[in-house]
Amino acid sequence: MSRPSENTVPMPVSEYPSRKALSIHKRLVSEYGPRLSRAHTLDPLSELIFTILSQNTSDVNRDRAYETLRSRFPAWEQVRLASVEEIEDAIRIGGLAAIKAPRIKSILEHIHREQGTLSLDFLREMPVPEARKWLVSLKGVGHKTASCVLLFSLDRSALPVDTHVHRVTRRLGLVPMKSSAERTNILLEAMVPQELYYPFHVNIIAHGRQVCHAQRPKCYACVLEDLCDFVDKSLEPPQ
Ligand code: SF4
Repeated sequence: MSRPSENTVPMPVSEYPSRKALSIHKRLVSEYGPRLSRAHTLDPLSELIFTILSQNTSDVNRDRAYETLRSRFPAWEQVRLASVEEIEDAIRIGGLAAIKAPRIKSILEHIHREQGTLSLDFLREMPVPEARKWLVSLKGVGHKTASCVLLFSLDRSALPVDTHVHRVTRRLGLVPMKSSAERTNILLEAMVPQELYYPFHVNIIAHGRQVCHAQRPKCYACVLEDLCDFVDKSLEPPQ
């Protein structure tokens, strides 16, 4: 077995994926833009409900459900006092209303009981790990939802791992193929510089939607092809 020469400085294990993540980020910026501005800015509680409505549905249906909910109940206190059936009716267009309505009502009840008011502004003062822990303690709130609230509404260091980020980063080999979404979140946050969390997240999603599809990814047209470890690449364009 050969050994590294005396002059070879072995690269720390964590350094390689960091460099690779940076190379990927730069390519994606050239392809999709620097993504400096935030697409939407909601207060943390609105962002939490908005993200719950986004679970297992399209952006269009999530937006419709959120708009209908807000127009029927302009204040979150009105949603808290509404019946589950009324909430369910307001968000039906978004799908899974029978699951999301009781979830939203119980979260509002919980916050009101614990904080005495319907606001998540107290999270602004909490360290990120503590704020994340508090959010995921809510029934129906997972790591992706918590990270969305932290990143989008609180401008905190969190890198949400949705289905696109999970699939694309595993195929690229940034994280092991068997990594759970939660583990992927931990690994990506360790390798991507914090100031790049937002553009990295948004651009990986764009790449997942436009090129690295779940079925038949367009590897033949992918700007990351030479950086990608995926073993089942589709390198021939369809005829
Ligand atoms: S080469 Fe294929 S699998 Fe890899 S990132 Fe590009 S589209 Fe996805």
